[in-house]
Amino acid sequence: VTIYPWLQQDHQALAQRAKNRQLHHALLLLARHGTGKTDFAQHMAQYLLCQNSSGPSACGQCKACLLFKAGSHPDLHQIESEKQIGVDQIRQGLAKLSATSQLSGAKVLLIHAADTMTEASANALLKTLEEPTANTFLLLTAESTQGLLPTVLSRCEKVRLTGATKQQTLDWLQTQNIDIPPQLLDLYGDRPLLAKSKSQQTDDKDFIAFQQQVNGLVGLDPVQLANEWQAQSIEVVSWLQYWLKQEYQQPLAGLQWQLYQNCLQAKQAMLNPGVNKSLLLTQLFIQTQQLLAKPV
Ligand SMILES: [Zn+2]
Repeated sequence: VTIYPWLQQDHQALAQRAKNRQLHHALLLLARHGTGKTDFAQHMAQYLLCQNSSGPSACGQCKACLLFKAGSHPDLHQIESEKQIGVDQIRQGLAKLSATSQLSGAKVLLIHAADTMTEASANALLKTLEEPTANTFLLLTAESTQGLLPTVLSRCEKVRLTGATKQQTLDWLQTQNIDIPPQLLDLYGDRPLLAKSKSQQTDDKDFIAFQQQVNGLVGLDPVQLANEWQAQSIEVVSWLQYWLKQEYQQPLAGLQWQLYQNCLQAKQAMLNPGVNKSLLLTQLFIQTQQLLAKPV
């Protein structure tokens, strides 16, 4: 079992506590998208189930580990959903937890993206969070505590996973023979898995294509460009901010500064589901055109 280098300390700390029987029965693992928290949660589940967990990580060879790797460990149940975790999924998971352990070891319920639980789902979980059966663990993951009910939060131990440094991301990508362009490392260096997928995207809608378009924006139609990019609007605004910082001397002044501030506000506004993202992007692109049209 290979734990990502930037998460090894976190894994060891939790494993040590499990060994000493001091691990909280309900852990909420918090980390941003692209840092490896899903894998971390699975490694932790495997460790808790492993029948030979004397080392720093699961042995990878015992019956429990083999069943885990085959995706068929009877005492592990995982819940995930594309959109929302419904109450039936939670009830099914809890039913598994309340059964007798088939391998006479721990039982683990893993809830991925727990912040997508409906209120009914979260409520269905409360009793188990409060009164767990012996040797039972609930591992929840989320990007942030937003979207989780206070009643759930108060019954879990919150574990904020350590992010990666740029160097760790670079080193890790090198072990996989992946070259990362410096601008992507600047943007995603704290999130190695995201950096990896961005580096491997051959799709033109990536940062480099965007950067070329922005440099040629004077001759383009901002409305059309905004429609083209609206599906990833928040990311595009981050790219625009990055482009500003690359293109102009710091500190930004005048129109440059104004555009940067407008980017910050637009990103905030885009978190609101009802907002017209294409319109916000159009406004930012028009300002970018004005900036490019102005002689420096
Ligand atoms: Zn094992």
